[in-house]
Amino acid sequence: MSFEAVIGLEIHAQLLTASKIFCGSSAAFGGEPNTHVCPVCLGLPGALPVLNHAAVDDAIRASLALGCTIHETSIFARKNYFYPDLPKGYQISQYEQPLATGGLMAGVRITRVHLEEDAGKSLHEGFVDSDRKTYVDFNRSGVPLIEIVTEPDLRSAAGASAFFSRLRGILVWLGVNDGNMEEGSLRCDANVSVRRAGEQALGTKAEVKNLNSFRFLQKALEHEIERQIDVVSGGGRVVQETRLWDAAAGRTGSMRSKEEAHDYRYFPDPDLPPVIVDAARIAEIRSKMPELPEARRRRFVDVHALPEYDAGQLTQSRGLSDYFEAAVAAGAAPKIAGNWIMGELARKLKETDADIAASPVTPERLAGLIALVEKGTISGSMAKDVFEKMYTTDRTAAAIVEADGLSQIDDESQIVALVGDVLAKNVDAVAQYRAGKASTFGFLVGQVMKAAGGRANPKRVNELLKRALDA
Ligand SMILES: [Zn+2]
Repeated sequence: MSFEAVIGLEIHAQLLTASKIFCGSSAAFGGEPNTHVCPVCLGLPGALPVLNHAAVDDAIRASLALGCTIHETSIFARKNYFYPDLPKGYQISQYEQPLATGGLMAGVRITRVHLEEDAGKSLHEGFVDSDRKTYVDFNRSGVPLIEIVTEPDLRSAAGASAFFSRLRGILVWLGVNDGNMEEGSLRCDANVSVRRAGEQALGTKAEVKNLNSFRFLQKALEHEIERQIDVVSGGGRVVQETRLWDAAAGRTGSMRSKEEAHDYRYFPDPDLPPVIVDAARIAEIRSKMPELPEARRRRFVDVHALPEYDAGQLTQSRGLSDYFEAAVAAGAAPKIAGNWIMGELARKLKETDADIAASPVTPERLAGLIALVEKGTISGSMAKDVFEKMYTTDRTAAAIVEADGLSQIDDESQIVALVGDVLAKNVDAVAQYRAGKASTFGFLVGQVMKAAGGRANPKRVNELLKRALDA
């Protein structure tokens, strides 16, 4: 009997606003505990929330990119539960009337996108009861989040992980989230159930939390799917519950029975008016949206005639594709610029752990280097050395070639002289070549290049060597 997994995701993404969602406290990550706080985000009596419209704009951007309908009116609600890191005893979220609904990305339907505030963070210390302490840091309390909920349209652990990765790429591309999963600014929970192949009804689902990397998401889902199949095929029933992924043990464990929505006693927050987003505001935000990765990938194929693979690689991030287009605008041939960016530049950036936006070799300078190769001033292999120097010394390719006397030897009389020397020193090889051993030719080319310190134009060397040998 074969089984099918049914997976839906709930993704929390921190919006990149300067201040929190309902107060002026800093929303920056880190800081000494309890320094980014005020009466509002500490939940002190009498403090009133005021909505940060920059957070709403970011949420609209994300919703538009996911193909959602933005609602003119959405409502903030109180989600009531007790937890030490939730000082008000409720979280302000959106429930019955979220900001946006009904989107589609990569074949997965997006149920809704809503705004909410983050909770604080409990910090635990000590391992034995006698000295166990828990502290609460409220720096994160009130940081703006969007929650993105998908329909249960995913059918495998690998598919869910790929979808999450793609979603992360879009949020980062839009500049609404930094994609930093280790710092918790992007988090994913998954709802998983299994059913026998061909069945239409959904099985009972478990929610798996604590998935702070693509790898953990995939491994946790693989494990959870297998666990549920074992339960069902053994005649048992899956219990609706929240399970935590234990990365060290490589398995999920039960955390608590899953709450139902009615456990939270949602009701509209009387302190906050409805969020009104009119058509003009949506149109304005839409008009300023950056071109999205998929559209850009297609344009790279259509306009710059890049192969599909190159276009896909060069649209992995907005920084990468901006760099590529700037190099092309500075005169570089698209395919060649792409090769440099995916090859030498990517290698150096990785080696120095640098972001492409801060590359010491600017797109204009890369185009300058490519132009020198095109003109035949330097060879392709010399260009790699020049690139290394450009990366570390902040000089242009032309300045390096000039200062280091690197320009290619193209002059016929110079190359003919080099060829003459090499032939005189390699009488045996010349005899072998003339006796029909063609492979000796490559050896002789190598000798000429060596004599020229690698600077001779290889094409000219080939021509002139052949001419000398065949004479
Ligand atoms: Zn505050």
